[in-house]
Amino acid sequence: MNKRKVTIDYLDTQKLGENFSKKIKSGDIILLYGDLGAGKTTFVKGILKGLQFANEVTSPTFSLINEYNADKKVIHIDCYREKEIERWISIGIEDYFNQSNIIIIEWPEILEAIIPDNAIKIKISHIDTNKREFLFI
Ligand code: ADP
Ligand code: MG
Repeated sequence: MNKRKVTIDYLDTQKLGENFSKKIKSGDIILLYGDLGAGKTTFVKGILKGLQFANEVTSPTFSLINEYNADKKVIHIDCYREKEIERWISIGIEDYFNQSNIIIIEWPEILEAIIPDNAIKIKISHIDTNKREFLFI
């Protein structure tokens, strides 16, 4: 994927996720970097909408891992509340990397040692209240 930068308003974040969903395939791992409230989960909601998932999409902040049977299977992981890599390994996180799911990880820093190198990285930054910058790496 080419490196590119976009600055967008709130409603466009979901739309960007929807468009992005058309470019990803099973087996892709997507890492979402950005502070609290950056728009990571909002972007994931757009991805699932784009993959025709009609039901509610919630943040895995507390569940840690949410699975969705959309057009493709999507595993949505949030590392914010569990910063011990050993805990992730003990719950079998690496098994997900070896399956043909789309994996999306919020706060991926903690898992970097075990995430495959070819993951797609997206950095989301606050510009102002309703504007965010997306950097695709
Ligand atoms: P994260 O998962 O990164 O913590 P969320 O997607 O849960 O962030 O929340 C983003 C918050 O920021 C929401 O309350 C949303 O309404 C607000 N927001 C304002 N502008 C934007 C934007 N351009 N893109 C995404 N979210 C935005
Ligand atoms: Mg979130």
